[in-house]
Amino acid sequence: MTLKLYHDDSYLQNFSARVSKLDLENHGLILDRSAFYPGGGGQPNDRGSVNTPSGSIPIHKVKIVNGQIVHFLPPEASLPDIGSSLDFDLDWDYRYQLMRTHTAMHILCGTIFRDYGSSVTGGNMTPLQGRMDFEFASLRKDLVKVIENAVNIEIDNALPISWRSIPRAEAFQIPDLIRTKINLLPENIAEIRIVEIEGLDLQADGGTHVKNTAEVGRVRINDYKSKGRENKRIYLEIL
Ligand SMILES: [Zn+2]
Repeated sequence: MTLKLYHDDSYLQNFSARVSKLDLENHGLILDRSAFYPGGGGQPNDRGSVNTPSGSIPIHKVKIVNGQIVHFLPPEASLPDIGSSLDFDLDWDYRYQLMRTHTAMHILCGTIFRDYGSSVTGGNMTPLQGRMDFEFASLRKDLVKVIENAVNIEIDNALPISWRSIPRAEAFQIPDLIRTKINLLPENIAEIRIVEIEGLDLQADGGTHVKNTAEVGRVRINDYKSKGRENKRIYLEIL
């Protein structure tokens, strides 16, 4: 199993790792440890590069294949030997934008649940752009700016954000987690990672976040789309 460095330290921009296996089918590397987020929960995978004796090789795709994190190399790049130790760099600008965006989406979830009792049902993001779906029948056009203000107030409040893994049984005792449907997580997951924005939001989440809401910057919500009577899709942008 690859040690998920991104789970503990989301600010890690480069690291050394050993090639523990090759995925010949995908022309990819499996490492003993990695800071590359493989994608999931609406957050795209990280990008970056690996330094080899023959030069720097870009990594554009990282994905979980058969339960393992595979770092895809371009087809023309030669694969390093198993056991070799290499230095890796994340595309930090890209990743940091995603961290700010992902945290902004959790601030949005937290404020909407607190102010309207509406739960999130899904979401997706690209750097500095996000969309989230809510069970939010009462959402009206004039609420858009009210919600935007509420989100920016929590950014100004500079709330600390933390993450940790807890046993599954313990997670099921936390009401905030139950409302975000942790019961949908596969049963073989013994430990559940939770991300907490102090006093605002608590979610089961595998993604990478900034450690204070102030790092997000400014959020703009331009509009929403009705996806049915109950379901509303809110679009946000980080300025
Ligand atoms: Zn999330």
